[in-house]
Formats: sequence, structure tokens, C-alpha cells
Amino acid sequence: MFQKQFCLVDHNTLASKALAAYFYAFSSEEQLHGVLAARPPGVNCLVLGSGSNVVFASDVDALVLHNVIQSIEVVDQTEESVLVQVAGGVLWHSLVLWSIEEGYSGLENLSLIPGTVGAAPIQNIGAYGVELCDVFESLDAIEIETGRRISLNKAQCGFAYRHSIFKTPAYIGQWVVVSVTLKLRSPKGGGGFDFKTEYGEIEAELARRNVARLTPKLMSDVIISIRQRKLPDPNVLPNVGSFFKNPIVTTDECNRIKNKFPALVHYPLGGGKSKLAAGWMIDQLGWKGREEGGAKVHDQQALVLTNVGGGGKAVVDLSKKIQVDVFDVYGVFLEPEPLIFV
Ligand SMILES: Cc1cc2nc3c(=O)[nH]c(=O)nc-3n(C[C@H](O)[C@H](O)[C@H](O)COP(=O)(O)OP(=O)(O)OC[C@H]3O[C@@H](n4cnc5c(N)ncnc54)[C@H](O)[C@@H]3O)c2cc1C
Repeated sequence: MFQKQFCLVDHNTLASKALAAYFYAFSSEEQLHGVLAARPPGVNCLVLGSGSNVVFASDVDALVLHNVIQSIEVVDQTEESVLVQVAGGVLWHSLVLWSIEEGYSGLENLSLIPGTVGAAPIQNIGAYGVELCDVFESLDAIEIETGRRISLNKAQCGFAYRHSIFKTPAYIGQWVVVSVTLKLRSPKGGGGFDFKTEYGEIEAELARRNVARLTPKLMSDVIISIRQRKLPDPNVLPNVGSFFKNPIVTTDECNRIKNKFPALVHYPLGGGKSKLAAGWMIDQLGWKGREEGGAKVHDQQALVLTNVGGGGKAVVDLSKKIQVDVFDVYGVFLEPEPLIFV
């Protein structure tokens, strides 16, 4: 039933050559229940989508469950909106393209994020001013230990910046998200769509294209072109996107750092909090383009670490040096964004 000593190189965007003790790709909930019941005693499970937010720094002594369940279904609709239930193994960007094709709005700013729909709630994926939680309605998940199925609504998922309940000790690694239901805006409402254009280079790109009337498709095209310009393609340069979260600190702490480093890039969040640009701090310390032991900080994006031959361990070693350096100079801890398996 399972494949043994399975090389994960094609199943993680960092192209780490880690071996999984056992590997199984499931394309239905029945198959998932079957494999959970038949797994060797005492073997832990690890759910894997596209492997675009994991770092394998060593072999994985577990049963890797690769989610490839496919389906997209409109389960309810009104004049203004549709509820779409999507299976966990659907690729996120293909869902975005489907929604645009159908004329729905809500996902366009999240275009081209790698990975699967089932993984999207785990870190509440976000980009260009929009997060999954903005369109999230509910999810269904199966408990690995018992096979129990639950539904969680938005409040129960505890979404925050790159965070959800699935990253907390009580939930981490213990559930398989089998489907996610999203609420998208429908063109039938007739009121037009509200696009988020104020983030990053969107306005400049729209002006450059001389866009008279914005549509979900146009917005998605703009996001795709910005992302393709800025982020390295993992198929060319293995990476997991942003390696560190942008730290959130109190405004007092932000002011303390700003007094010392007036050019500090930061974004006020309200409620006495500010988000600091981790990439700016890393860049200021001269890490951009630096290569050590087979891992490299990307030439243009200081937040992106790439595997240039040393594998996941080299990338983790490099990330630790950056963490120490940033902490020594700015007094801020950079938390890794991907899940690291050592
Ligand atoms: C080039 C690049 C750009 C990126 N840009 C962004 C971005 O703009 N915004 C952003 O938020 N992220 C970004 N990411 C990170 C990544 O794409 C997302 O976190 C994505 O949701 C991960 O999906 P995945 O299927 O690859 O998850 P995996 O890497 O396979 O898994 C990630 C974690 O989720 C768990 N998991 C996966 N599937 C399930 C499931 N069905 N049920 C329960 N747990 C599960 C895994 O066990 C693991 O802990 C980027 C990554 C890359 C490589």
C-alpha cells in the first residue's frame, strides 16, 4: 500500500532530497481513512500538499500523506455571493484561475501562491493586502489519530497573520484538511467589485497598463506579473517563498528601533502594534546574495533563501545565522514561516 524510503525531492519546492520512511498519495477521503487504519503501528503521519512551505532538513521518519483529492463545487449562491467547496488537494492557483473564469471575485490578489487548498488555512495564506480569512467560510478536517471528522468556522480556526489553530500545539500535525469552503463575490449582484489595489506595486502596474475598468481577471494578471518579476520560480531556484515572517512588535518597540535606524521599514497595524519588514533588516545587514554551505540568500529578495546544493539542512543553518545577526543588531527575533522538519 505505501511506498517505502520514498525520495521527496519532487514533493518540496526546496528540492530537498529527504527520504520519507513511508509515502502514500490519497485521492479520496475513503483512501485516507483506509491508509490511516492500515498504517504501521507507532508511525507518525505528516500531511503534505505541494511542499512549498516545508523544509526537510533530514529524512522524514513518518508516513507522508500526500493530499491529491480533487473537486470544486458551488454549494450555495445568492445574488451577491457564492459558496464554493474545494477539496484539499486542488492546487491553489488553479482554484484562483477557476474563480476568475467563472467571474467571481475575492481570490485575485492571492494569484500564483504555490500549494494546495488544504494547506491554505494552515498559515492563513496572504498576499497583496488579502488573506485567506477574508474569503474563508469553513473547513472540514479529519483527525489522524481517530478518523473523526469535524467542521470549523472562521472564528474556530483562530486566523491571524500567517497563523491558524493548526499551528498551535493542540492541533499541529494532527488533522488533515480535506475541504475548504470559501465565500466569493458574484457578478450577478451588479454592484461591481471592490478591489484591493493599495498594496505594493499594484497601483503603479495598473497605471502602467492604463487600465480603465478593473476586473478580477485584470487584477489577477497584474498580481501574476508583479510576482513573476519579484519572486524566484522554485522550479529554477528551489525555495519556499518568504523564509521569515515579518515580526509584529509593539509601537514602543518599533519606535525604539526606529530611533536607532531611522530608515526602518514598518507598517502600523493599529492597536499599538507595528509590522517590521524582515527583508529590509536582513538586507541592511548585508545578507542579500550571500551563499554559505550550499544555501543562498536570493540576490533580489532578502527574505527568500534558496537551496543551491546543500539541501534543507544548509538552508536551515543559513537561516539560523541570519536570525542571530538580526537579533544582535535589532533585538528582534525572526520566526521562520515554513514548517521545519529536522
Ligand atoms: C515561491 C513561493 C511563493 C510563496 N508565496 C506565498 C505568499 O505570497 N503568501 C503565503 O501565504 N505563502 C506563500 N508561500 C508559501 C506556500 O505557498 C503556502 O504556505 C502554501 O499554502 C503551502 O501549501 P502546500 O500545499 O505547499 O503546503 P505544504 O508545504 O505541503 O505544507 C505546509 C504545512 O501545512 C501542512 N498541510 C499541508 N496540507 C495539509 C492539509 N490538507 N491538512 C492539514 N495540514 C496540511 C503540512 O503538514 C505542513 O505543515 C510561497 C511559497 C513559495 C515557494
